[in-house]
Amino acid sequence: MSTPGILQKNLDQTSLSAETAASFLEQVAKKVPGFDDAILNILTYSKREIIVEIPIRLDDGSVSVFRGYRVQHNNSRGGPFKGGLRFHPEVNLAEVRALAILMTWKAALVKIPFGGAKGGICCDPKKLSKTELERLTRAYTEHLGDNIGPYNDIPAPDVNTNAQIMAWMFDEYAKSHNNCSPAVVTGKPIEIGGSEGREEATGRGVVIVTKDLLKDLKLDISESKFIIQGFGNVGANAARILHYEYGAKIIGVSNVEGAVFNKNGLNIPELLSYQSKHKTLKGFPNSEWLTNDELLVQDCDVLIPAALAGSINERVAKETNAKVIVEAANAPVTIQADAILNERKIHVIPGILANPGGVIVSYFEWVQNLQQLYWERHEVITRLDKLLTEAYKRTYRISVENNCSLRESALRIALTDVIKSIQVRGF
Ligand code: NAD
Repeated sequence: MSTPGILQKNLDQTSLSAETAASFLEQVAKKVPGFDDAILNILTYSKREIIVEIPIRLDDGSVSVFRGYRVQHNNSRGGPFKGGLRFHPEVNLAEVRALAILMTWKAALVKIPFGGAKGGICCDPKKLSKTELERLTRAYTEHLGDNIGPYNDIPAPDVNTNAQIMAWMFDEYAKSHNNCSPAVVTGKPIEIGGSEGREEATGRGVVIVTKDLLKDLKLDISESKFIIQGFGNVGANAARILHYEYGAKIIGVSNVEGAVFNKNGLNIPELLSYQSKHKTLKGFPNSEWLTNDELLVQDCDVLIPAALAGSINERVAKETNAKVIVEAANAPVTIQADAILNERKIHVIPGILANPGGVIVSYFEWVQNLQQLYWERHEVITRLDKLLTEAYKRTYRISVENNCSLRESALRIALTDVIKSIQVRGF
């Protein structure tokens, strides 16, 4: 089988992120020692793809059937599979598969002992009551059976899932396996084995690698102007840490409704409490209201997409004057935009380097659960900083030595590690 054929087969039902993941793999693969068609075959396909049809009784007595997925991509590096669980009306197999592939690279790049996985349920959580969500989560967990477990595959929160969903999964797994092991999921509430620092971990990781790159570019973080798309877990935590710990100026942030902008800087503490009180950004004092499209092309030094795949498209790539784009979300920069940004010498910190803070602290949570020994917040943050800073330094060094983008460098490092593991284990 030829390489393009294999990839094309996987691209049949492309979502943007599937296309992105497969295309970058193909571009970089040829430059990695030991890469051949056999390895590409292994890495292009998932080790296991599970689709479950989940009937649940709604509060009005009727029955609805939801489709759920769990994709386990590759665990050659040892350790269990690991990846988030997403609830969204547009969840589909191609997207879950692509996100599982990204998790394989992410874990390899930051050197944590997991294989890449991802899960999702195609549903609109806003239309489900809390009791319906609980029944759906428990039924999904039951349907996955032994495919998840502390040493098999460990789900975590992702888009529209949270600590409560993880608590229900833990409880359901414990009941059905007669085994009370909190290590079956991460991102749990602290009271049942969650880790200190998990909630803010991805946003903090985004800030750690951004700070490192700005330093290498001889740019002062406290003098830099930031725009952040998405003001949820990742975006709001990144804004908070940038403001309080680095004195950075955040001039625009957005959510699904639109954006608030002030070229002299937004008052972040007031914006956080405004959002928490009013459940919207609209109407925030001393700011202009813009559309998301308008926000993304305003003058800034650092642009952080922390919402959706595909938001940094060709138009944004051509019009932005940011010096650095940080992929806090998974696959926000399209392939076409990436080429334009490279051409324009705009630095892009790829998602597999920018957003693994969450999975790193999930790893710490798993370790703490297995040892039944819990760490203080400062220990979690110090260890997170160390792992991410080391990953950043490796990536930056390889990119300078090979005169390539940070994206290519990060993928080369991750692929090299995965390939060595496949070769040494045999197949
Ligand atoms: P979240 O649901 O907490 O927040 C998402 C934010 O994006 C919200 O403010 C929402 O209003 C906004 N948004 C949605 N659609 C938008 C649009 N069209 N334009 C502008 N804003 C829009 O989600 P999150 O946990 O912050 O995750 C954000 C991204 O980061 C996702 O791509 C997710 O996969 C990725 N990610 C999250 C984690 C994590 O630990 N939470 C880890 C790695 C990657």
